Amino acid sequence: MDLPGMWQHFSLMASELSEDLFEEGCGFDGSSIRGFQAINESDMLLFPDPTTALIDPVCKVPTLSITCNIKDPITLESYTRDVRYIAQKAEAYLQSTGIADTSFWGPEAEFYLLNDIRYGQSPNSGFYHVDSVEGSWNSGREENPNLGYKPRYKEGYFPVPPSDTLQDLRSEICLKLIEAGIDVEVHHHEVGTAGQGEIDIRYGPLTDIGDKIALYKYIIKNMARENNLVATFMPKPLFQDNGSGMHVHQSLWKDGKNIFYDPQGYSLLSEDALYYIGGLLAHARSLCAIIAPTTNSYKRLVPGYEAPVNIAYSQRNRSACVRIPVYSKSEKAKRIEFRTPDPSCNPYLAFSALLMAGLDGIQNRIHPGDPLDKDLYDLEPEELADIESTPVSLGDALDALEEDHEYLLKGDVFTQDVLDVWIDYKRENEVDAVNIRPHPYEFFLYHDI
Ligand code: GLN
Ligand code: MG
Ligand code: MG
Ligand code: MG
Repeated sequence: MDLPGMWQHFSLMASELSEDLFEEGCGFDGSSIRGFQAINESDMLLFPDPTTALIDPVCKVPTLSITCNIKDPITLESYTRDVRYIAQKAEAYLQSTGIADTSFWGPEAEFYLLNDIRYGQSPNSGFYHVDSVEGSWNSGREENPNLGYKPRYKEGYFPVPPSDTLQDLRSEICLKLIEAGIDVEVHHHEVGTAGQGEIDIRYGPLTDIGDKIALYKYIIKNMARENNLVATFMPKPLFQDNGSGMHVHQSLWKDGKNIFYDPQGYSLLSEDALYYIGGLLAHARSLCAIIAPTTNSYKRLVPGYEAPVNIAYSQRNRSACVRIPVYSKSEKAKRIEFRTPDPSCNPYLAFSALLMAGLDGIQNRIHPGDPLDKDLYDLEPEELADIESTPVSLGDALDALEEDHEYLLKGDVFTQDVLDVWIDYKRENEVDAVNIRPHPYEFFLYHDI
């Protein structure tokens, strides 16, 4: 996977599969991968991780798929910009602290399934028309009669078919995910009425769930393509409709016990769990540069669409960055949900950064203050005065990361180099690149000025 999070592949003939491949690795050109090597040092080695082997559920030609680790061909050391290596280091760092031995991750990625029709030429000309499968995404703004079982605006969650036209496709996707070894728990239509959906997978350890999210997006995009649709994990494809988040449920375990659980604590949470939340909230603004890492992420993080904008925690409340699901009553199910991430993030980097922020909270006993058990969107301005907000833009988040990143460097999990490359890459290729292009809405505002 490259640094921004796009999965990459190449295919070896079956005859090349030998023990040597696992011992000596296989070369590739690291200079062509975003965020990797300069052209004069481009050769890199891939080492397949046999524990990830599976029959690719998408390829028509039988193909064995193996996820790889990346190493330097000269030193044979693991590559510090390999996102999977960062995830592995985060897991090792957790163990080295003695706080816990395992972290569990349960991401809930949302996405839109859209018709594959795009008008306009290139991103440079700046105008795309997104065509919805269910044809109703703008019904909140129009008073047309509802003649076709369309889900009503903001009511996509979750009437039965025929309003939900995507039930069978989501089920078919789930079967493919299961075939690929992903334990699927539930799928449903989401609030967005243009064909928004969610498929939830069973929680697991950090690197493993990073691998599974890569596979998950790959399968969903391919199944959509097969059905002449396009799946997008872009956080806010449609103005005035819900964005797509990737809430991340997390807990820490030691010797088979959930250290977040305390039957006496607030919402059955232990003191360490509260400190973990304290760490997430204290570093939330800089975390955003990694967990909500696109310019489009900040179009999702606005009030009114169930995406959190206020940096606070709450039992139950979906308008807070951190929610403690109230139905998770048993020790096994006790966890916290961080709602700010979206599926445009690199899952390995996102989970690693969240873990490091939470651990920093435990190590420094950062108390998160009182919970906010009300709808944060409805608070009076004076009540909101003390509550920090998520960054307003990717540029704002990258500035926050530049200021606040010591917690990520512990145990060399993130290196200064990888953070510098990340910040430079994002500023140059995304923040600046978007800023210098005229926006379609500017034509509404200014064309006749
Ligand atoms: N789509 C919302 C978000 O952007 C979440 C909706 C939900 O799962 N309740 O986070
Ligand atoms: Mg959900
Ligand atoms: Mg959801
Ligand atoms: Mg959720």
